[in-house]
Amino acid sequence: MSLIDTLRALLGPGAVLTEPADLAAHVEDWRGRSRGAAACVALPSSTAQVAAVVQATRSAGVPLLPQGGNTSLCGGAVPHAEGPPPVVLNLSRMRRIRSVDAANHSMEVEAGCVLAAVQQAAAEAGRLYPISLGAEGSCQIGGTIATNAGGTGVLRYGNTRDNVLGLEVVLPDGRVWDGLYRLRKNNTGLDLKHLFIGAEGTMGVVTAATLKLHPLPTAHAVAWMAPASPAAALQMLGRFQQNCGAQLSAFEMIDNGQLQFVLDHVPGRRAPLPPTHRWHVLVEVSDTRDEANLRRALEQVLAEGSERGLIDDAVVAASGAQRDAMWLVRHSVSEANKKAGVGLTTDSAVPVSAVPEFIDKASAAVHRLVPGLPIILVAHLGDGNVHFIPFFSFERWQALPDRDAMGARIKHAVNEVAHALGGSFSAEHGIGQTLTQEMALFKPAVEIELMRSLKHLLDPADLFNPHRLLPPVHP
Ligand SMILES: Cc1cc2nc3c(=O)[nH]c(=O)nc-3n(C[C@H](O)[C@H](O)[C@H](O)COP(=O)(O)OP(=O)(O)OC[C@H]3O[C@@H](n4cnc5c(N)ncnc54)[C@H](O)[C@@H]3O)c2cc1C
Repeated sequence: MSLIDTLRALLGPGAVLTEPADLAAHVEDWRGRSRGAAACVALPSSTAQVAAVVQATRSAGVPLLPQGGNTSLCGGAVPHAEGPPPVVLNLSRMRRIRSVDAANHSMEVEAGCVLAAVQQAAAEAGRLYPISLGAEGSCQIGGTIATNAGGTGVLRYGNTRDNVLGLEVVLPDGRVWDGLYRLRKNNTGLDLKHLFIGAEGTMGVVTAATLKLHPLPTAHAVAWMAPASPAAALQMLGRFQQNCGAQLSAFEMIDNGQLQFVLDHVPGRRAPLPPTHRWHVLVEVSDTRDEANLRRALEQVLAEGSERGLIDDAVVAASGAQRDAMWLVRHSVSEANKKAGVGLTTDSAVPVSAVPEFIDKASAAVHRLVPGLPIILVAHLGDGNVHFIPFFSFERWQALPDRDAMGARIKHAVNEVAHALGGSFSAEHGIGQTLTQEMALFKPAVEIELMRSLKHLLDPADLFNPHRLLPPVHP
């Protein structure tokens, strides 16, 4: 029996896709920049079915690519152009919220649950699942775990790694590891869930997770301000941290070029402050208590910032609708950039204090390569995470004789600046297929060797997500 027939027998005929039209959405990435061929797309509906698929692909010696919502920004979730076509194992049918334990501040969910549905289920129980990002309507919990996703809530709540209590994983040999602990404390040796968080599907298929929940904030105050410079924005960050403590839940900066793209390309978005201001920051404080107090604290810091010349202007959201409208602008940047042209987005992290120096030096490095090239910028400033985006119009990009080489040179120049400042070339998006060469150049050899050893231990035949995360052995 062929592998496809075996999979059909295991999952049912409707759960194995082979027609090109059905495969299309699974073999090209969200930005339309990476694509490959798949043997088929398998759609299991239970952990037992995932284990059966893993055993079948292993026996056939066929690679397996776990896939969530396919929103990876580094080509992580689509087949590589090289090597035999993998079976794409898409988790979207595994979307059950298994349980919510409000008293324990935890919930158990299947990996295919869409992030927004998890947030919603937590909120219905009066709890918060704090991971939030622009793709939350499509990305899945399994994908966010596999990429250790960050987003806009990291400043207060940490990244995905900080919000996972336990995992259920199908290992490359087909065994199921039930590590769905619900504990805050469990010092019984190595904490194995961390082998799979951020491993981008190279070590196993995450089939379910126990997530850490938080009290649901019921009071919010949001402002949009125009700092005089990134250095002034940093000073404002410090003042908010000092005055609002743990209530500070977001501090997101964009520049005016990025704001203009959102206004030009995403219908219905309004600028909270005019794009004539060079820098823009969305700041949010939230709590479980009185909104009036929160708002006063926010306004006080803004007034002080204005007196000291740190901000040129600011507007405080007067209603929930205005707050949502501000967040919509922030969450529309990726969509706008996809429509506006070709952005060479980096995912740089530097120490928070080094962000202004990073922006200056990275801009200079890019302009040494392409004088005058427009650069736009989106930063989770409170985390020191800057998406630094040298930007080409579609026409200018098409006219380049050596597009791939030029793109790689420009991004590498930015990554070198981050590295020299003690930073990272991948803060939150992961490595996927597009950053494996940078991994080889920037990651210490000992770390890569250790990662390779662990991978070999779990997946000696290298069938799980080959060609990604780890650099090629002979680059
Ligand atoms: C508009 C937009 C905004 C974004 N904003 C952010 C942001 O602010 N912060 C951020 O961190 N990311 C952001 N991203 C990137 C992306 O959404 C995240 O990386 C997300 O976590 C990917 O989830 P997914 O379900 O789409 O995973 P996929 O893209 O399907 O897969 C990503 C990787 O995880 C693996 N994988 C998926 N599911 C599983 C599983 N169940 N078990 C094992 N491996 C698995 C895949 O093999 C692949 O390597 C954004 C993307 C878009 C399109």
